Amino acid sequence: MAEITIPNDSQRNFSSDTVSISNISEIPMLVSTDHVKLDSNDAEEPPAKKSKVSLNDKTRLLEDRIGSILSCCICLDLSTLAMFQCINGHLMCVSCFNHLLADCKMKDEQTTCPNCRCEISKSNCTRNLAVEKTISELPIQCDYCSKIFIRSEIKIHQSQNCPERPTICDYSLLGCNWNGSYQNLPSHLLVCECPTKTGAQLINTIRAQKRTYDDEKKCLETVVDLLSLNQIGVSDLILKPLRTDDFAAKLYFETSRFTALQYQWQVRARINDNTPHPHTTVTRSLSYQLILKSKITQSIDLKFFILKGPHGDPSTLQIQPIIYHFEFNQNNTETEYLKLPISSQECNRILSSSSISFRLLMVQLDKP
Ligand SMILES: [Zn+2]
Ligand SMILES: [Zn+2]
Ligand SMILES: [Zn+2]
Ligand SMILES: [Zn+2]
Repeated sequence: MAEITIPNDSQRNFSSDTVSISNISEIPMLVSTDHVKLDSNDAEEPPAKKSKVSLNDKTRLLEDRIGSILSCCICLDLSTLAMFQCINGHLMCVSCFNHLLADCKMKDEQTTCPNCRCEISKSNCTRNLAVEKTISELPIQCDYCSKIFIRSEIKIHQSQNCPERPTICDYSLLGCNWNGSYQNLPSHLLVCECPTKTGAQLINTIRAQKRTYDDEKKCLETVVDLLSLNQIGVSDLILKPLRTDDFAAKLYFETSRFTALQYQWQVRARINDNTPHPHTTVTRSLSYQLILKSKITQSIDLKFFILKGPHGDPSTLQIQPIIYHFEFNQNNTETEYLKLPISSQECNRILSSSSISFRLLMVQLDKP
């Protein structure tokens, strides 16, 4: 039952978008430490002045040299994610690639390769499997025990086999807060008090857990209850990118008008809640607004939520539904902008694609 929690730091080399993006600001540091490893005797020589194959390069390990050749030209990391290349062969990890495409889309600019300035897009860039496979064979140090492994094995090693991987107590469900390295678990278990606790001592911990489960269950039950109501509208929609007429045109998204529950509607979405320069931010978010387009005489009491839907990108993670409630009447025909529950990474991926597909579920509440 023990769940292994790996601190964020350890994920640096195998996934997180935020990590790669935050690395963009760290480029100078990475250049001077990770990528150009200087020997102590020529440390005074600035890296920029070095010729392509210096003496120093020759003494570096082959894998270091290959590593610096195969790293992403934006975050300078050796990514275990998909690697894309421009038509001239410059390499970008998928998270930097999406970030770049999303940035340029917001600025209404053609995306260009940071290296050679050729145009890049989803259609003219390809994945480079040879690079991805070579990277997976390169060595990497374990964050916990410092031993060297090949990249394709490090994830399993760090999550399942490393004797120093972070571990929690087997009795954490009974309220033990101990955490430490896996090899110290047996000695903790000898002194852990949880297995000998009485029911009376454990009841509060169990009550607290039950409350969390109950909350989740309640959300699910609400969805099930809503689905049993009479008036349900299911609409599979596409948000298309548009630009405002302002002097500095802003990117936003809009669906065509659609009919659901016998009324006409439209959905609009915007990035980072319309902050002035979304392309300068590291974290991205999307929020949406539901607009009633029909004239009404009676109010409409509506609950609605967004799901991934059948036409969305299959790689989109399941969207955790957030149910919103709004009463539409003659004077109130637009909801506020409501958060779309997706990660910043997911948001960049969505922004970099040409349109956004999703399913909107609307349930009209019966008049009491
Ligand atoms: Zn990158
Ligand atoms: Zn290029
Ligand atoms: Zn290890
Ligand atoms: Zn314990």
